[in-house]
Amino acid sequence: MKKFVDLHVHTFHSDSTFTPEQVIDVAHKKGLSAIAITDHDSVDGIDPSIASADKYRIEVIAGVELTAEEDSLEIHMLGYFIDWKAEWFEKKLAKLRQARLERIYAMVEKLKKMGVDIDPKKVFTLSGPGAVGRLHLATVLYNEGVISSISEAFRKYIGEKAPCYVKKYKLTPKEAIDMILKLGGVPVLAHPHILGRDDLIPRFIKDGLRGIEVYHTEHSRNMASHYEDFAIRHNLLMTGGSDCHGMGKGRVLLGKVKVPYSLVEALKEESYKIRVSNEKNRSDR
Ligand code: AMP
Ligand code: FE
Ligand code: FE
Ligand code: ZN
Repeated sequence: MKKFVDLHVHTFHSDSTFTPEQVIDVAHKKGLSAIAITDHDSVDGIDPSIASADKYRIEVIAGVELTAEEDSLEIHMLGYFIDWKAEWFEKKLAKLRQARLERIYAMVEKLKKMGVDIDPKKVFTLSGPGAVGRLHLATVLYNEGVISSISEAFRKYIGEKAPCYVKKYKLTPKEAIDMILKLGGVPVLAHPHILGRDDLIPRFIKDGLRGIEVYHTEHSRNMASHYEDFAIRHNLLMTGGSDCHGMGKGRVLLGKVKVPYSLVEALKEESYKIRVSNEKNRSDR
């Protein structure tokens, strides 16, 4: 039987409503052989996912989704097979999460100026100890009856082009790629269609990008085939995943986008090569 994997999954350690245990239970129900845990700016969901997955023999790939910025655009960089226990990385992530917290206060201030009064505590209650983000703020706006759908919150208030949007702590794409490489991980550009700037990708490749997320919930068949061609032309790995946020986006997406297990093997091999080259550079110094 052919094995399938979902390479883009969030937990409540960032902006999904699912605990790692719930994620694994759903992955089992969907018959997946492996999933990658790719929380925004957090690796705290990885260990509990591995522990839960053991009973189902589901493989958990240690991942992360970092946000970078260029030309005032958000660039989401996925990292696969990272060394998630590296202490320096945990410190860096803690800094990124602190900046996320401050950013929520800044967006709440902007909302206030538009006549929308939100108690930031409600946002932090929702996010718990994990990486807080706009999806939590959007959910509070929805719960308070300010808007009638999550997408309306982004359209009207906190989307990248909306009036109450506040930028995050800035990593450049190169910094994000460098960090992932240093962790022995494989850097992959998330949902390139949402970014919508293919012209930026060749530079990311020069900086060490190894793959692009060809298959994604928000990629139509045409877009996917466009990015298949793009990946072939630029000799990039092709990955895919649902970007499941539990109930955070209204419906459970896990397993709705799945790719053959051979992609996991390709990522594993690439991570191995990156680690060998890291070692070599270390001993050359
Ligand atoms: P942040 O990391 O705080 O900037 O929030 C980015 C996250 O917000 C994304 O990963 C999605 O989970 C969510 N998001 C962004 N745009 C939308 C949208 N239009 N509708 C629903 N969720 C969105
Ligand atoms: Fe998210
Ligand atoms: Fe993303
Ligand atoms: Zn994501």
